[in-house]
Amino acid sequence: MMHTSRDTAPDEASGSTRKNGLTVRGVRASRGGSLIIDGADLSAPRARITALLGPNGAGKSTLLHAIAGTSPASFTTLTHGDGDLLRMPRRSRAQVVAFVEQEPATPDSIRVRELVTLGRLPHDGMWAASGDDHPAVQRGIRLTEANELAERTYASLSGGEKQRVQLARAIAQEPRLLLLDEPTNHLDIRAQLRTLALLRRLAHDGTTVVAALHDLGLAAAHADHVVVMADGGVFAQGAPADVLTPALLREIWGVHADVLTNPTTGRTVLALSLEGASVGR
Ligand code: ADP
Ligand code: MG
Repeated sequence: MMHTSRDTAPDEASGSTRKNGLTVRGVRASRGGSLIIDGADLSAPRARITALLGPNGAGKSTLLHAIAGTSPASFTTLTHGDGDLLRMPRRSRAQVVAFVEQEPATPDSIRVRELVTLGRLPHDGMWAASGDDHPAVQRGIRLTEANELAERTYASLSGGEKQRVQLARAIAQEPRLLLLDEPTNHLDIRAQLRTLALLRRLAHDGTTVVAALHDLGLAAAHADHVVVMADGGVFAQGAPADVLTPALLREIWGVHADVLTNPTTGRTVLALSLEGASVGR
């Protein structure tokens, strides 16, 4: 069994991680009336990308909804930096936390610029929709390269474009904690890499980025910290090279892994395959 003490990597002493980033203790979360997560602990360092990993049904989306406050959950601790998210009024919490859901309910007829402007609601209230674009709205549109989409209706966008403008809306919200549920799903490889590069930029600017990712290779190559979920619990967390070992990949995903090192970046590269000749195709 992997342990959970690796969230104190040398460059992020536990005290400062706790103070600056996301700390979640004792989360219990339900979906559709069933208790899915029963007492998990995790942390995510500030100004870093944390990948939330785990097989289908492990509880990644449930955990993100719990932290975002969009599904029923209880915590013993839920803090970001010095802020206690549990004690904040809804609007203050929305000033701190943005959540890019997998398939957010969005009116078809809304125009992209209006959608991105909705990101300002927690800060500016109803003033958000009036006057010139807020600089943060412009920034969201610019960083996601959504300029040419700004006057289009949401319904007219492709799946990848919808993901981009939802991210633009979250950027307009200027969150200190950005949660994303599989932000690279359905994107081609170049678009995936651009999304990861954008997340890196946001992290570099000080945002705590937590993204559920399906692709272990992308996580190994781009995340600073990984949290592996299984069966509604946190199985392991820490630096990708420490956590994504052949033993863990076999136990959690049932795959064989050769762990290599990228000669250019020095980062972990995973070569994954089915193990044993007896495994069916
Ligand atoms: P992941 O995002 O890691 O694939 P989820 O958090 O979506 O996992 O799901 C965790 C568990 O919760 C699964 O067993 C799933 O079947 C269940 N679940 C998810 N959504 C609902 C729902 N709306 N109603 C009931 N159960 C759900
Ligand atoms: Mg999910």
